[in-house]
Amino acid sequence: MWKDCVEQKRIAEYLHRSISNDRLAHAYLFSGTAGSGKRKLAFQLAKAVFCLRQDGDSCEQCDNCRRINTGNHPDVHYVSPEGTRIKIKQIEDLQREFSYRAMESQHKVYIMDAADKMTVDAANRLLKFLEEPPKGVVAILLTEQIHSLLPTILSRCQVVSFPSLSDEAILARLIEDGVKPGLARVTAALTLNIEEARALVEADWFAQFRNLVIQLSEDIVERGVYALVTIHDKLLKAEKAADEINLFLDLLVVWLRDLLLYLLGKESHITNIDQMETIQRQAVRWGQRRLVDGMGTVLKTKNRLSHYANLQLTLEDMVLRLQEG
Ligand SMILES: [Zn+2]
Repeated sequence: MWKDCVEQKRIAEYLHRSISNDRLAHAYLFSGTAGSGKRKLAFQLAKAVFCLRQDGDSCEQCDNCRRINTGNHPDVHYVSPEGTRIKIKQIEDLQREFSYRAMESQHKVYIMDAADKMTVDAANRLLKFLEEPPKGVVAILLTEQIHSLLPTILSRCQVVSFPSLSDEAILARLIEDGVKPGLARVTAALTLNIEEARALVEADWFAQFRNLVIQLSEDIVERGVYALVTIHDKLLKAEKAADEINLFLDLLVVWLRDLLLYLLGKESHITNIDQMETIQRQAVRWGQRRLVDGMGTVLKTKNRLSHYANLQLTLEDMVLRLQEG
């Protein structure tokens, strides 16, 4: 249903209005980064076209909604690259299919994923199809690379730009996937790319980094010299230490910010909500001023590492500064 498309509310409202006012275009091009909700909206639009309730929305209950959800509706076609490209034969098959009258209704919809992956022949064939659209046909092309499409194809489509998701939208998606709230919030604080977020929550090294951040913070205020041991024996030996050090430092900043938020009485803003006891304990030991300075130190460290500073020396230096407070 349109109301479930919370990630791209404005686009959902726009498409809902268009179908309710009987003003659907012949062809749409949904353009946006991976995970920005293009496919979900495309199928939602298809369901809204075919839903037996005919009220401009999908009901998710009727035969048509269900068949679209399971990929079994005879008048809804989904095309995606075979191997790495969309080939001319796929477009020809589509055209042949669409030259028959719609099987069950006045409409036919095709959704083409990764439309920029069409071969030149395929794109030219599609262009003909877009120029003389059979009655009742709605084309929905999806792309992450709008600039790779022929301008002539672009000019035939209503272009709908999908903005990257907000952190709330990423969070909502991760929770929907079944990710625990604490991990979901931390991940959403670090990336606005849903595919990347999904990869992070699955990665062992990411879970390990999270634990290491908490341990390092504890070592710094509780166990003095052990903080350096944690850097040497754990962080620098971790599988992704060199490649993903930025992410480790981002996690550390988020953690220190949580400690500070706790001290400021803004607990509802805390990201690592599954670590409240530890946050409570560590925050008091760190103290407000030291946390503010500490976050600055970590950000400076990130900056230095982006200029090819030596990883080990730079991290050691950071720990010493954090300890001085
Ligand atoms: Zn329905």
